[in-house]
Amino acid sequence: QNKDKLKKTLKNINGRGYKAYKQIQSNWYDFGYYKLGIPYVQGDPFASPSSILIRIDQQVTNFPAWFWENKIRRMAVTDFLTRLIERAIKKYSKGQRGSGKSGLIAITKTGQEVLERTSVEFNKDMIEARLSLGLPAAGRRVLGNEAYKMFFDELPKIINSTLYYDNINSSSLKKHVQVIEDQETLRGKLEEQGLVAFIANDSILPRQSGIDDRPLTGNKVVHFMSPPEYEVTFDLPHLGKIKGMGVKEGITLIVGGGYHGKSTLLNAIEKGVYNHIPGDGREYVVTREDAVKIRAEDGRRIEKVDISPFINNLPQGETTTDFCTENASGSTSQAANIIEALEIGTKLLLIDEDTCATNFMIRDSRMQRLVTKDKEPITPFIDKVKSLYTDYKVSTVIVVGGAGDYFDVADHVIMMDEYRPKDVTDLAHKIAIELPTQRKEESSDKFGRICRRVPDPDSINPKRGNKFKVKASSKDVIHFGRNNIELSNLEQLLNREQAKTIGYILVFALQKGIIDGQSSLGDILNKIFNILEKEGLKIISPFNYPDGDYVKPRPYEVGAALNRLRTLKVKR
Ligand code: ADP
Ligand code: MG
Repeated sequence: QNKDKLKKTLKNINGRGYKAYKQIQSNWYDFGYYKLGIPYVQGDPFASPSSILIRIDQQVTNFPAWFWENKIRRMAVTDFLTRLIERAIKKYSKGQRGSGKSGLIAITKTGQEVLERTSVEFNKDMIEARLSLGLPAAGRRVLGNEAYKMFFDELPKIINSTLYYDNINSSSLKKHVQVIEDQETLRGKLEEQGLVAFIANDSILPRQSGIDDRPLTGNKVVHFMSPPEYEVTFDLPHLGKIKGMGVKEGITLIVGGGYHGKSTLLNAIEKGVYNHIPGDGREYVVTREDAVKIRAEDGRRIEKVDISPFINNLPQGETTTDFCTENASGSTSQAANIIEALEIGTKLLLIDEDTCATNFMIRDSRMQRLVTKDKEPITPFIDKVKSLYTDYKVSTVIVVGGAGDYFDVADHVIMMDEYRPKDVTDLAHKIAIELPTQRKEESSDKFGRICRRVPDPDSINPKRGNKFKVKASSKDVIHFGRNNIELSNLEQLLNREQAKTIGYILVFALQKGIIDGQSSLGDILNKIFNILEKEGLKIISPFNYPDGDYVKPRPYEVGAALNRLRTLKVKR
């Protein structure tokens, strides 16, 4: 339809009840260079805002073909355009006016990471941007003139300044895409070099604050510099040669005094599974994509996990080969977190002493003498970390400040000294010989079996009554049917949008019969992520139009969320 039709309708419904806005729903309006789609109109000014789509032919946008040549470039462009639109909205939208969400124009939020999102689609044929818009009202009366301004003044300005190649800063776009493509390439090269992570020289690891993920600034920032022993060089398609510290497969300890930067280094490695924007300071900090941060998480539920590699002979004969609890302890939760990550297929565990259960990590010789093995259900991680690598090729990077017993099992020891890493492997091994711990190893040399669980679809219910209820109000919790899935201990989950997307991925997997009562959790996640790879993330939308607010999570966080659903039942 012609845009004049929209103009006329808005005039006609001015001052009428809010429901009159429904007249503009489900239409495409031709604005000449672009088309505006309104697939969904909100029911009232306080409800979630209306959805709009903006579609432009690639012939009109004038983007060179280079930008859509491969998937990672398309993703990087999408990310860049989302950020541009975010800024243009701030500049050109008059913002809230009238009641509720009246007058607001919004696109999904972005942070330091570059993620696959549905906010913008970019391919060889077209660009489609997906925004939300609060149709304006005074009380519940349509403010037609304000709506007119939004559609015919503010939106055109936003679109004009962001979706036409000739109107945007093409060199910063190109830089963005190149930096992302380089990171992706770099991550892909880790395995062939026998590395689990790489931290480029000159990276900036510390963040502004615990609630601000931007890089720390000021003259106190110490830029990262690899010790010579660990320095490796990569050749990247755009940047060329880059040097930095390679973290090798096997068992690596990060030691050092309190406040010397151990956790900061590990946190950067954790987030290295994602790509970062230019200027983040961690653009060339990359980690194998299957790395999982492990921590204690007492209070969580556990559903039939075989934690027997770590825990046996519980009081009162409770079984640990299919261990269930509504309220895990520090050590049982940490054991379950490890086994569940292994079940999905991780080959790299990241552990920080700061967030561990001490009795899970270590039992020293004095304690071994006082509390004999037959009275202690826990086989500490120190006695399993080696067999994890020899049996399953699972590497571990552990931050330890206090437990020198780990020197015996470490392949590499890196010391953080005033934020500068040093190789102290030989020294640590020498000390281990000079000062034996006298503790007895508590495990045979086999790690043990890793369980394979089959989720029961009937135990996963996203409905409340007969209506779907899937919502995330923050990154910490998904409201899923009648249940809340608690995610605050998933340190590699980034934001509310990822949490929400996990909820919708679960709904999608249920509706498509992927969670079928036969397939293991690992197979289910493989199947889901293969579909998302092929069809794009927007496929999960349960509506008849794409939601622009999805952000792709990793399979590990999707699995972790399901494992934390309090109604989950599994077969073994
Ligand atoms: P640790 O885990 O060794 O106790 P942290 O990693 O928590 O230490 O770091 C302690 C403090 O030092 C944090 O406030 C962090 O932001 C800051 N910090 C870490 N690395 C650097 C660095 N390279 N330059 C400046 N400050 C840093
Ligand atoms: Mg710390």
